[in-house]
Amino acid sequence: MAWDDKIEFMSEKEIKELQTERLIKTVEKAYKSLFYKKKFDEVGLKPSDIKDLSDLKKIPFTTKDDLRAAYPFGMLTVDKNDIVRIHSSSGTTGKATVIAFTKKDIDTWADYVARCLYMIGMRKGDVFQNMMSYGLFTGGLGFHYGAEKLGATVIPIGGGNTAKQIRMILDFKTSFLHITPSYALHVSEEIIKDGIDPKALGLKGLIVGAEPHSEATRKKLEEIYNCPVFNSYGLSEMNGPGVGFECEYRDDPHIWEDGYIIEIVNPETGENMPDGEEGELVITSINREGMPILRYRTKDLTHIKKEKCKCGRNHKKIGRVVGRADDMLIVKGINVFPSQIEDILMSIQEVGNNYQIVVDRKEDYIDTIKIRVEISKKFFHGKLSELKNIKEKIQHSIREEIMINPEIELLEPQALPPSEGKAKRVVDLRKI
Ligand SMILES: [Zn+2]
Repeated sequence: MAWDDKIEFMSEKEIKELQTERLIKTVEKAYKSLFYKKKFDEVGLKPSDIKDLSDLKKIPFTTKDDLRAAYPFGMLTVDKNDIVRIHSSSGTTGKATVIAFTKKDIDTWADYVARCLYMIGMRKGDVFQNMMSYGLFTGGLGFHYGAEKLGATVIPIGGGNTAKQIRMILDFKTSFLHITPSYALHVSEEIIKDGIDPKALGLKGLIVGAEPHSEATRKKLEEIYNCPVFNSYGLSEMNGPGVGFECEYRDDPHIWEDGYIIEIVNPETGENMPDGEEGELVITSINREGMPILRYRTKDLTHIKKEKCKCGRNHKKIGRVVGRADDMLIVKGINVFPSQIEDILMSIQEVGNNYQIVVDRKEDYIDTIKIRVEISKKFFHGKLSELKNIKEKIQHSIREEIMINPEIELLEPQALPPSEGKAKRVVDLRKI
């Protein structure tokens, strides 16, 4: 039994029919916004030109810059008075972007999140501790409404304040946590310091998201907390969380195709790519009222999986997001994703829970990369010969896998600032 049997277990044909119907309606609606009217008129496209899914590629892309230019309300398809909530994502650079919700959009969003949570085993009576920031960031309120809709008991504690988090887990017998992976590692250290084994908390599951992380980190967290760890996929332009979620097989997220049409395009040419090939994920929201977005360039690099999932759901799965096109570091001309480095570090048993990547440039042209790594408490005895071995092991593994030769700095356990939310893993000191 699922949250929504009918929708979740639709055949591929039924999914396509529903997508076609919703796409046509969405395009008609989007054309009412100042933004899409202009965009369509510029290329001579009429809403009536979109008759089925194969016509999707006629529609121009929407980018983050478009959203910034349309700030605050240029993309609304309803009267401003029908908007009941605003979320906004502000990058560290540039203007903010805004996403607006009608009452119906909030309900639909909550339903998608409830569907995800039900899929991983959350039920009425479970206690859900939401350790993500609330406010303009969609991760907090998105999960909050979804878990309430499902009937779980929600603790809206937000991020940080680790001592209080641990006390709540113990006092309320929390069964599910929503947390960033880096913070989950930090919290486990503090729990152990309190003399408690995280395995004894009896957690049923951890939901992780909001920062890229590796499969090795998931395995490490599952081992520490002795419960399954599920990846969540979402982005504020598409409501926030609830776009996709891993099912009980924990083998990459299903994207809910009744709400989102996904495509993979070549990030340079914008050409569509076949399933299985790696490229940029493009999403069209087809179940939003106040502000639908057509063909949004997510900058997330991934692929659409070809294999069917054992759970019986036909909603397509996307591979692990290897990184965002704008997270990629180019060091000495080599493309490096921080998540690749993390994957290697977290599979080395002497490595602790925290690390930092520092990129710099010497004499204006030589890129240097230094990885500062905390050693696991178990292996930290301070013997110089041992430290040298660990250093060489890390250096060797990274050289083998990603062909860069970083300097390794070993640190005592907990020497780096702890993550209380999104971890800042990369420090780029290059002035480019
Ligand atoms: Zn599945």
